[in-house]
Amino acid sequence: MNIAVEKVTSSKINEVDFDNLAFGSVFSDHMLECTYKNGAWETPKIVPYQPITLDPSSKIFHYGQSIFEGMKAYKDKDGGVWLFRPLENQKRLNISAKRMAIPELPEEYFMEGLTSLLQVDKNWIPENDGSSLYIRPFMFASGNGFHASPADEYKFIIATAPSGAYFSGKVRVLIEEKYSRSANGGVGFAKAGGNYAGQFYPTQLAKAKGYQQVIWTDDNTHEYIEEAGAMNIFVRINDTLITGPTSDRILDGITRKSILDIAADEGIKAEVRKISVAEVVAAAKSGELKEMFGAGTAAVVSPISGFGHQGTDYDLPELENSYAMQLKKRITDIQYNRAEDKFGWRY
Ligand code: PMP
Repeated sequence: MNIAVEKVTSSKINEVDFDNLAFGSVFSDHMLECTYKNGAWETPKIVPYQPITLDPSSKIFHYGQSIFEGMKAYKDKDGGVWLFRPLENQKRLNISAKRMAIPELPEEYFMEGLTSLLQVDKNWIPENDGSSLYIRPFMFASGNGFHASPADEYKFIIATAPSGAYFSGKVRVLIEEKYSRSANGGVGFAKAGGNYAGQFYPTQLAKAKGYQQVIWTDDNTHEYIEEAGAMNIFVRINDTLITGPTSDRILDGITRKSILDIAADEGIKAEVRKISVAEVVAAAKSGELKEMFGAGTAAVVSPISGFGHQGTDYDLPELENSYAMQLKKRITDIQYNRAEDKFGWRY
């Protein structure tokens, strides 16, 4: 594929303080852009990072055909650049596309587009320990018209943002039993923009009560815990790690499935099964609830210090050797090429 490259006339890189990077707020010099028109994806091109001009009737604004992915590029101590299971993101983007009636993108457009962009902007991949280049591939309806139907034109863009190590600290969470993130037959398994918009308001309410994040329960009964904010959730009861099965309502997280494989390799007993709120509350009361954590690309694991449920707060113990930290180390050692990659996940 012949990807045309239009380079910036002067790079912004010297304006960036790589020792103090927030998450996803400074953007690299270039972006990949690809247009779907007349029934086909055109050859992607690399252009300077810049605003997008859209017609006010663009369907993205009205009907929300918008999906995205989140991934990272890691630099090892010898300057080698690595991705972590990128084909999983490519496949998931097309799973999301199909559900939102957006045309699927051929695998090579994604992979060649992404690797070409990283070659052009490789100086933007931070070298500091724990830092990475956050990669945001996204697709949206750029076609026009107020008619409520799928657009006839779309854009696929990859923008990147050098980001520092993500130290969120432990979070307190609220088990949500009124609002739902997703529903059976809905779009929870897709990385659709609207899923996140719908989470903001219940999360604001939880924050006003002193919690940092919401634990979503199933929409039908609110009896089972499903996700932690925009992360998959793991619970440790005694020595067993448990995560819910993926479904229509749950995003099939790449960190989640990597953790399950690593747990098996480390000899940690792990179960994929429904986890009821009642079981978590009972385990918290009896002291058998040892850990809860979210799992996702941004933080890898995000430990939970305690949770609120129906007006009562429960604290989790401080553990010296948590599964969360053990699993995080194994994954990040693979991502940064510090350890053998027996699973073949590095790219
Ligand atoms: N659940 C939701 C709703 C998410 O947005 C994410 C982040 N992509 C995850 C789980 C974790 O997925 P991954 O491990 O692939 O980043």
